[in-house]
Amino acid sequence: MEETKKQELIEEMKVLTEKINKASYSYYVLDNPIISDKEWDEMYYRLLDIEKETGIILQDSPSQKVGGEILSKFKKVTHSKKLYSLAKAQSIEEILDWKSRNENITTFDEEYSVEYKYDGLSLCIKYNGGKLVMATTRGNGEVGEDVTEQVKTIRTVPLSINYKGEIDVQGEGIIKLSELEKYNKVSEEKLKNARNAVAGAIRNLDPKVTASRRLDFYAYNVNYCPDKEFSSQEEICEFLKEQGFCIGNYFKIVHSIDEISEIIKNVEKTRNSLDYLIDGLVIKINNSKVRDVLGSTEKTPRWAVAYKFEAEETSTILNSITWQVGRTGKITPVAELEPTELCGVTIKRATLNNYNDILRKQVKLGDRVFIRRSNDVIPEILSVAETYETSKIIEKITNCPCCNSLLEDTGIELFCNNHSDCRAQIVLKLTHFASRNAMNIEGLSVKTTEQLFDKFNVKYFSDIYNLNFEMLSKLDGFKDKKINNILSSIEKSKNVKLANFIYSLGIDGVGLKTAKNLSKVYKNLQNLMSATISDLVLIDDIAEIMATDIFTYFNDEFNKLEIEKLLKFVNIENNDDVKVSNGFFAGKKVVLTGTLTKFKRSEAEKIIESQGGTTSSSVSSSTDIVLAGESAGSKLDKAKKLGIYIMSEEEFLKYI
Ligand code: AMP
Ligand code: ZN
Repeated sequence: MEETKKQELIEEMKVLTEKINKASYSYYVLDNPIISDKEWDEMYYRLLDIEKETGIILQDSPSQKVGGEILSKFKKVTHSKKLYSLAKAQSIEEILDWKSRNENITTFDEEYSVEYKYDGLSLCIKYNGGKLVMATTRGNGEVGEDVTEQVKTIRTVPLSINYKGEIDVQGEGIIKLSELEKYNKVSEEKLKNARNAVAGAIRNLDPKVTASRRLDFYAYNVNYCPDKEFSSQEEICEFLKEQGFCIGNYFKIVHSIDEISEIIKNVEKTRNSLDYLIDGLVIKINNSKVRDVLGSTEKTPRWAVAYKFEAEETSTILNSITWQVGRTGKITPVAELEPTELCGVTIKRATLNNYNDILRKQVKLGDRVFIRRSNDVIPEILSVAETYETSKIIEKITNCPCCNSLLEDTGIELFCNNHSDCRAQIVLKLTHFASRNAMNIEGLSVKTTEQLFDKFNVKYFSDIYNLNFEMLSKLDGFKDKKINNILSSIEKSKNVKLANFIYSLGIDGVGLKTAKNLSKVYKNLQNLMSATISDLVLIDDIAEIMATDIFTYFNDEFNKLEIEKLLKFVNIENNDDVKVSNGFFAGKKVVLTGTLTKFKRSEAEKIIESQGGTTSSSVSSSTDIVLAGESAGSKLDKAKKLGIYIMSEEEFLKYI
């Protein structure tokens, strides 16, 4: 190639590189796109063409971001300056201790920076002459691994910076949870945990794998910079920003531990909504002079402390599976674990939803598994942490562990259908029936209902109302007082609100809230019992599966008979009075015309009626509203003439 032509192309490459890098910086670091994807593509592919033509690749060319050759191994590299770990605190007291330890060494004005503690992989990136020359993992703090080719692919790592001296920038490689989700959607191998995903991406000999994971880098420190001094953490972060780094999303300067305490409280509440993992906050003394005086211990700088949130996840060994029979006959595998501490509680069991869940997570007996505590529900097994040669496959059971009946396998769940004799089901059904938000019968604990079943074959709800003093006196530990309490509690339960009654039936998935919604809409049991699936799905929070369960329950002959028997004892306070005054359509006469797209006409009528309105088929001067669907004809015309309020389907949707 002619020399002048070559020079021209190199100039063009420089311009393209600068433009593309600037656009990427705006897009990834500033989150503020300045050019369209199309323009970006055009420039990028033009650049690739020139690189091919000339055989020259500029050091900071965006083409370097896709990852180059596969490496044979990671080289070990000694850091220019040690990369420290951080002292830990798990309470405000421990942060106060940290402060007074420092005050014993020197006096200082309280001024701290507070940053997120990003939970990824710590990286150190060296620049010299404005170029990225090396990137390393932290390793043991003194020696790390050379991951330059991998780190170059991270979109928020600049390949060149303005500062021309030697400088080591330290920060955290992270993966956004939204990126992890996208990756898992399209890839065979599902990555379970964001932190492991980052470590796996960077410690992968193939830089193209790193590139495909779409990592980010949040810079938080200048670890080494022989020719430049910084007066504070604030200045370091400002400088890093100027050089084109993303410094993460949280940086605050505060002047007291009280303020830090407030921040901790807030961040503990909001951290689960972040798009990346953080495992705490890092508190640093802002002033560099104070830092210099305080210095470091062997492992950690004295001027910083990490407040660590309580771990919500841990791992332990899965010892065995107990198949539990639920109230509705559903069989749930419960994992018996090697006891372990999580959030200050000892965890011995975790749920595995159903057999499909076991297959999907590929869990085996003896495996080390990740568990997570979610609020107050029983912990859940997330995935396998490690499997062993000795691990054993979990077999699907075929018979009920309680009554030995052959189970029904729906493909998703296993069911024991021996509802009238399976002790486990009956006992749970009865105790649920008696529970506080249901019929509120005191004293009918699992222990008691077990005895009632064993001694007197008490298995139906209505059997409870046939209990008497003599029977109860035959139960272990039942004295006069206790017996009288139960009997009077049973007596009281004979008057019950509709919502509590619905809840007491223990229909699969119907909690108190749903029961309340049902009672509001249907006002009495008779209405509810004749509801169709398409009626039911119109109610808040009721999806098709639950609607089907409710429908099936009330259309089962056995259940119908049992309810009939119950109603001989129990008087339900209906919900008739609540409706009329409440709904938008209360007291209004509504005429429907035309075709509705989202509802059958009969469904819309039911809804209007459930909100206290009445419906009729002809428009007259006493009509309040005409609900007009598509291609409405003469009724609509008449309504217009009479000046009646006309409502579209869209508007109708808003009101219901
Ligand atoms: P640890 O690994 O638990 O000893 O904690 C120290 C590590 O916290 C450092 O090596 C960094 O990887 C990480 N870290 C995350 N965010 C920050 C931050 N804002 N400042 C300092 N270190 C951080
Ligand atoms: Zn059974």
